[in-house]
Amino acid sequence: MTVVTRFAPSPTGLLHLGHAYSALLSHDAARAAGGRFLLRVEDIDRARCREEFVTAIDDDLGWLGLDWERPVRRQSAHMADYQAALDRLDAMGLLYPCFLSRRELDAALSAPHHRPMMGPEGPVVVDADRLLPEAERAARLAAGEPYALRLRMRDAVARAGALTWHDDGHGRQTADPAAFGDVVLARKDTPASYHLAVTVDDALQGVTLVVRGEDLFQATHVHRLLQALLDLPTPRYRHHRLLTDPEGRRYAKRDRSLTLRALREAGGTPSEIRAMIGL
Ligand code: GLU
Repeated sequence: MTVVTRFAPSPTGLLHLGHAYSALLSHDAARAAGGRFLLRVEDIDRARCREEFVTAIDDDLGWLGLDWERPVRRQSAHMADYQAALDRLDAMGLLYPCFLSRRELDAALSAPHHRPMMGPEGPVVVDADRLLPEAERAARLAAGEPYALRLRMRDAVARAGALTWHDDGHGRQTADPAAFGDVVLARKDTPASYHLAVTVDDALQGVTLVVRGEDLFQATHVHRLLQALLDLPTPRYRHHRLLTDPEGRRYAKRDRSLTLRALREAGGTPSEIRAMIGL
């Protein structure tokens, strides 16, 4: 089977050394296997994404010596694909509208009488619709108030049954998406969420090996569930370590001096970048 990998940045800032590491690992994995390497622009969040950063991704990765197949898939041009996936999940009765904002949900979850389910990162949202009386939900729906769509996790897990996936570094994993609670699949402001778009796209693009940072390891539990519900194939996963700066902090968009742009303007070369990140 041809190995197909991808690098899927969000154009919300300039690429830094951490991105270069991820992109090169993904690119090199495809090349080593005689496979295909794709670039995908994850720009569904219109408020945070900027066109200048899309251009910068193209320039910076090209300068680094990567080459990828064209045309590049841009998520913002494929909202109908995510809608079709939502429609399927809705037809299974697995989605519900949630009107409450993050702040309102946090307040409800920390109310003294409430015993929230705990996930790896604190309390998780379960049955968020039931936090509002039915009459109020109906009134808000009738008034056209915006809502997010959440997955009824309990029902989704029951429907999908036991699931596993393979991580190159950690071996066979048993999916445990329940710890995420009722994840948002369509946001109030964007009719898709990261979890949904990334799962649909990896399948539509025929990605067989997902190479990405270990900060997304947990998210794979949710992606595996969505694959099962939507009858999509499951790629292999390789979650790589996250690079840190000399102070031991993860590279982030705030590290201006370590963007590929700044390093290149300071006279750096692609082979020096590879040496800096140990590749
Ligand atoms: N777009 C995501 C990010 O920039 C990465 C998605 C993925 O690799 O699954 O963090």
